[in-house]
Amino acid sequence: MKAFLNGKFIEKKEKAIALEDRGFTFGDGLFEVLRTKNSHIFFFEDHLLRMKYSAEFLGIPFPYSFDYIKEMALELISLNKVNDGELYIELTRGTDLNREHRYPSEDMQPTFFMLAFPLRQIDPENWKHGATVFPYPDLRHRLCEHKTINLLPNVLAKNFAYAHGGYEALMYREDHMGKYVTEGGSSNYFIVKNGRVITPEIDNILPGITRAKVIKILKSHGIEVIERRVYLEEFLNADEVFLVSTVSKVMPVRKIADREFTAPGEITMTAMKLYGRLMEEEKGRH
Ligand code: PMP
Repeated sequence: MKAFLNGKFIEKKEKAIALEDRGFTFGDGLFEVLRTKNSHIFFFEDHLLRMKYSAEFLGIPFPYSFDYIKEMALELISLNKVNDGELYIELTRGTDLNREHRYPSEDMQPTFFMLAFPLRQIDPENWKHGATVFPYPDLRHRLCEHKTINLLPNVLAKNFAYAHGGYEALMYREDHMGKYVTEGGSSNYFIVKNGRVITPEIDNILPGITRAKVIKILKSHGIEVIERRVYLEEFLNADEVFLVSTVSKVMPVRKIADREFTAPGEITMTAMKLYGRLMEEEKGRH
């Protein structure tokens, strides 16, 4: 069986895609599945237009003309001798050796590949007498507590911040009271108000390792830490704001868009110091 990858036909079993491909590390890509019959591809134009539209939305360069893709797809179908078949097309932002949410604005070569294989077998009873289905909640946006590689929304959020000269995004959702902060693209947030520390509760956000450590060390230092829903308005009216993550450690926030804060504030500085000490102790133990 052959596959088409970046302009070439290769053996399907060949290991051809880099481990650092952003499709693999960030879910940073798109796909299409098309139905084929001998040398006909059904609704080719519709599928390709959808993919191209989404590629434009994500800022992934669309690498080939539709005519070229069709020619290569038909060649692949013929090479694999597929009669009743499926054509799978995937486009990712490409290989990124840095594995950072931020994608380089230039020099990104997208990964484009196609697979052509016989149609999956579906029990004809389903058409004859109907299929059975089961209700299940739509969890697509409820998986934030899990560190999955479905990071495309985070990639978009962080690249929005980078494009505006920022370091990190401050992601929010909305309820009847207004916008509330969830987390960063790859960090957790804290605010300080009147000497108390407040941080978004674990409600469909990643339970950050650093977040848990920071809460613990602040509490054992006698500082009150409250975990609850925190509104964007409260962030904008805070005395101090800081973000935390494995890579950023404890980092003071100086600006949320145009709103400026004292950075680092007093409690932020305490958190930075205590977290630095904790890391030193941990290192010392091993
Ligand atoms: N939120 C998200 C979405 C993240 O990807 C990360 C980084 N892993 C964090 C928070 C911070 O988590 P940790 O302190 O475990 O690095």
